[in-house]
Amino acid sequence: MAKKSPLAVKLDEVRERIAAACAKAKREPGEVTMIAVTKTAAPEQIREVLQLGVGDLGESRVQVLQQRAAQVNEFFARQQAHGGASAENLPAKLRWHMIGHLQRNKIKPVLPLISMIHSVDSLRLAEELDAHAAKANRKLPVLMQVNASEEPQKSGVAVGAAVPLAEQIGTMDNLQIMGLMTMAPLEGDEKTVRQAFARTRELFEEIKFEKIGGPHMRHLSMGMSNDFEHAIAEGATLLRIGTLLFGGKVADEEMGEE
Ligand SMILES: *Cc1c(COP(=O)(O)O)cnc(C)c1O
Repeated sequence: MAKKSPLAVKLDEVRERIAAACAKAKREPGEVTMIAVTKTAAPEQIREVLQLGVGDLGESRVQVLQQRAAQVNEFFARQQAHGGASAENLPAKLRWHMIGHLQRNKIKPVLPLISMIHSVDSLRLAEELDAHAAKANRKLPVLMQVNASEEPQKSGVAVGAAVPLAEQIGTMDNLQIMGLMTMAPLEGDEKTVRQAFARTRELFEEIKFEKIGGPHMRHLSMGMSNDFEHAIAEGATLLRIGTLLFGGKVADEEMGEE
């Protein structure tokens, strides 16, 4: 057996920790999907993580997403076509998730590239996405971002406005609301972090109870490198993990922004 690369070792560690957190929460590991957030990744690391079987990639910056999707999608298509040892673990599909704040004037270029957007946080953005998705003849999967910790600086719909906005998004013909996304306070202690996730899950349950989104309402996108185990305990189905896999550090102003 060839020696594992540093990224392969890290990925194994993360997968083991996800499995352990699922076992502890009495959940099936298949309920939880890891999205590799490419914010701090070098291009060769993105290609490698794909070859290691990760098919869900996340980006928070529009321009970077455009550049990377162009390169990575082409690499993926080539690997699929030619096969061989390096393509053994290739995922069946490659999906890009837009996880950062999206300005309305950037919708058009990213829409064809993304499988899902996690950061819908206003009626105006939802309406504009709906209009662009209609032109593209698409039903776009979206998550609504909630500011569950109610930090003033933070993106996301206020807790009190979440259900009414979800209801409005639920009526839009070309958007499919599939769940909620949240970010816990970055410097929060365990209790604060768990509260933010629990609050998001309660809102999710309430929205489901109102039958908004129907059977599609099934995702909770929460949990990052330093809090994903708490997120799994609180019901996360989509984890967004960057630095734990790729290392590096992202400047503060880039968090969730483009
Ligand atoms: C950067 C980013 C992540 C990944 O964070 P890490 O701490 O590097 O795992 C997840 N979600 C969003 C919205 C991000 O901007």
